[in-house]
Amino acid sequence: MRFSGLKILTEGLTGNRGWTPHWRDPAPKPEYDVIIIGGGGHGLATAYYLAKNHGITNVAVLEKGYLGGGNVGRNTTIVRANYFLPGNSEFYSHSLKLWENLEQDLNYNVMLSQRGQVLLSHSDGQSDALIRRGNAMRNQGDDAEWISPEYMRKNWPYLNFDSPRFPIYGGLMQRRAGTARHDAVAWGYARGADQRGVDLIQNCEVTGIDIENGVVKGVQTTRGAIRAGKVGIVTAGRSGQVAAMAGMRLPIESHVLQAFVTEGLKPCLDTVISFGMGHFYISQSDKGGLVFGGDLDMYASYAQRGNLPMVEHVAEAAMTLMPMIGKAKILRSWGGIMDMTPDGSPIIDRTDTDGLFIDCGWCYGGFKAVPGSGYAFAHLMATGTPHKSAERLRLDRFRTGRGLMDEEGTGAQHNLH
Ligand SMILES: Cc1cc2nc3c(=O)[nH]c(=O)nc-3n(C[C@H](O)[C@H](O)[C@H](O)COP(=O)(O)OP(=O)(O)OC[C@H]3O[C@@H](n4cnc5c(N)ncnc54)[C@H](O)[C@@H]3O)c2cc1C
Repeated sequence: MRFSGLKILTEGLTGNRGWTPHWRDPAPKPEYDVIIIGGGGHGLATAYYLAKNHGITNVAVLEKGYLGGGNVGRNTTIVRANYFLPGNSEFYSHSLKLWENLEQDLNYNVMLSQRGQVLLSHSDGQSDALIRRGNAMRNQGDDAEWISPEYMRKNWPYLNFDSPRFPIYGGLMQRRAGTARHDAVAWGYARGADQRGVDLIQNCEVTGIDIENGVVKGVQTTRGAIRAGKVGIVTAGRSGQVAAMAGMRLPIESHVLQAFVTEGLKPCLDTVISFGMGHFYISQSDKGGLVFGGDLDMYASYAQRGNLPMVEHVAEAAMTLMPMIGKAKILRSWGGIMDMTPDGSPIIDRTDTDGLFIDCGWCYGGFKAVPGSGYAFAHLMATGTPHKSAERLRLDRFRTGRGLMDEEGTGAQHNLH
């Protein structure tokens, strides 16, 4: 079934009786060519591109819960390509280009809204660093623009421009950045993969990885053993646990990140704004809620909920940047588990076990990476060679120390990235 304006019209006129489920609910087969562990954004995108780009359709995605119930449905939906370091910059640039054609590609409305994102500067030194970043982005073919406090005063008059501690000097704007509806991204990729023959198997937790003489043979699950020629681990915050099933110890710590949404307000914020003197970022959802977040909860955890001290910390940053937010009521907050690497950059690589691959370490930036990661991981799993956009996202950089990509220059402490 293809979605179109005509289809909506005809269904509307005939009682909406012709819609079909987005994907099947198959029982697991005893054997697949490829098993993807994890039905989040990255796992589903990988399965989609394996089928679409490489014609590999005897694939199962095994998800312990329900599709999209992990971080792909818990993030603050920001999409951008404003990275500075080689390795990250070409990867996220490629991913943003895929976003720009995603709705046509999937025949699914992911509600991509290129409303722009601005990184604020609060000092001359910070402005220099951001302008340098902007030049790097433009050199690579992406858009970047320096915007003045006057421009901001006109568009976002409620920002605290003249705060004695953190006056606003300007900002680096990427107009092609923005937001997308996060769960629709999972559903769109799931539907596209299912249409190409991929089995999406929910309520199927992987409990073991079968390896014989250094070669992967399949997985053990709560629905029985399943054999496979190749296995991809794409389990985000649970990557360390699942990799341990194959005897691997990953350079990853799992930390909670919280997000918040207020009651619906009239349109007042037409872009995504990131504070430059604290970890705080904010946008307005299409329903009117202000969606915002800040730092990690700062301790390692697998709990998908956060604690009150970080609520206070984020609220302080919010009040510092835009005091008017104090009048809005918070409706909900929630948490997700972030797979934090020591340099804050991701991993898309093979492992020491033949046929076993891993895609992880997305920290809190993995939503924007979904198309690029799925594309590159499918390429690696299908061809055995890294896609050119992801050549530097190697696992062994943490062993050798060569090729680390510490975008923020905060050093090897997982929770500071
Ligand atoms: C509050 C918050 C805000 C964020 N904001 C942004 C943002 O604005 N922009 C951005 O780019 N990124 C953001 N992120 C990060 C982004 O959401 C994640 O990096 C990304 O979603 C992780 O990849 P995923 O979608 O594949 O993960 P998930 O959706 O978590 O998928 C992993 C799946 O693996 C499954 N799984 C785990 N173990 C097993 C097992 N043993 N067997 C079977 N299945 C298993 C899990 O159930 C889960 O469904 C944010 C995250 C959070 C929590």
